[in-house]
Amino acid sequence: MHSNQDNPAAHPKPSIVSRSGHTISRSNIDPDALKVLYRLNRHGHIAYLVGGGVRDLLLGKKPKDFDISTSAHPNEIKKIFGNCRLIGRRFRLAHIYFRGGKIIEVSTFRTISVFNGEDGPVTSDNTFGTPWEDAFRRDFTVNALFYNISDFSVIDYVSGLQDLKHGLIRCIGEPEVRFREDPIRMLRGVRFSALLDFDLDAESDRLIREIKDEIWEGATPRILEEIIRMMARGTAARAFTRLNELGLIATLFPEIDQHIRMESADLYTDTLARLDKRSHIQGPPEPWLIFACLFYPYFDFIYRGSSGDDLVKLARDTISPVCQRIQVPRRMQDIIRQTLAAQVRLFGLRGSRFKPRTILRKAYFQDAFTLFEIVASSSNEGRELISEWSNLQGPSPTKKPAGRRPRRRKKRGPKPPAIAPIR
Ligand code: ATP
Ligand code: MG
Repeated sequence: MHSNQDNPAAHPKPSIVSRSGHTISRSNIDPDALKVLYRLNRHGHIAYLVGGGVRDLLLGKKPKDFDISTSAHPNEIKKIFGNCRLIGRRFRLAHIYFRGGKIIEVSTFRTISVFNGEDGPVTSDNTFGTPWEDAFRRDFTVNALFYNISDFSVIDYVSGLQDLKHGLIRCIGEPEVRFREDPIRMLRGVRFSALLDFDLDAESDRLIREIKDEIWEGATPRILEEIIRMMARGTAARAFTRLNELGLIATLFPEIDQHIRMESADLYTDTLARLDKRSHIQGPPEPWLIFACLFYPYFDFIYRGSSGDDLVKLARDTISPVCQRIQVPRRMQDIIRQTLAAQVRLFGLRGSRFKPRTILRKAYFQDAFTLFEIVASSSNEGRELISEWSNLQGPSPTKKPAGRRPRRRKKRGPKPPAIAPIR
């Protein structure tokens, strides 16, 4: 991909769309990101808004974050911004801090992707690159567009604008090279295709079906992170369908795949669609809730075929192998297991031999009820049960009883050093 690196004549010319030719308005860009862009530019550096921020602005969506790339080297960035910390060993990134804990990430243009964690050798300056190299090292064309603060134009080295128009997630370069270089890109492709409701380009689609099992050559924590990210933005049902079509459910969750073959994938997409509904109203769900929703139909299937005696053990035996494969952290596994097991009790309110009060007192009740509100809302009876449990809980726990003194917060170690926000 970088074979023409030393020959400037071979450097691709970008297409540049001036301010009047695109829809990005500065009023939709985070004011702090704008400050950073302007200040870098005033100090004589190239400064672009990059990545998902540009993509989402062009699509009229609200970006999740605003990342910046610049010709300034990390130490130069640090000199310009007092409220800045350099992070990362393999590739130094600048984090610029603002009020309310907001961080704007600024990275120097680079040539090669360094996405495989922080355990490699310390960076040398030869990873810094030109804007076109920075565009070409990115994963998909729609993620490689630049917004240039100096003239408000959009710079496109990779035909990303065209793909954006056609609703296409297309690899930059050969899919085979790019997916083998970083197998997590297969999941990223699914994530963006679900998030934007775009198609994967035909070659990527074909290739993922073929080499899906190579996903395990990527770092497992990144697999976990991508699964969480693709299910957290209100398009989890679509992400599940895409994963399933490509055979990635069979690779990542063989137990779920077997279950789908015996019953139906609808059990999963219906549950996740209800999670999506919640995400649209309440924002991104916590990771444990994503996995609890994802595993619920499978747990329910196993429960239906069991004697149903020891629920906690059943939940553990069912969920542990699935969780271990993708290295779900222990604490998260505990919540998933407890909340799944609790669903049987919550559904069993009317005929239960157990007193409802027993479970109402459990520390995990609120989490279990959150899951119950999602899984039970598919039927009339379920919805009735949800309101019966709501009534049993009494008034909302957020309303504190009058007259109680607030507990003083314990001090937890020294305060982090204050970083003055820039103006
Ligand atoms: P989101 O809106 O969900 O944050 P994003 O496009 O910003 O989506 P990030 O994971 O935050 O995605 O990454 C920021 C940008 O960095 C991407 O748009 C892409 O250009 C680049 N990038 C991230 N991960 C990779 C990767 N594994 N390979 C190549 N480029 C990547
Ligand atoms: Mg991002």
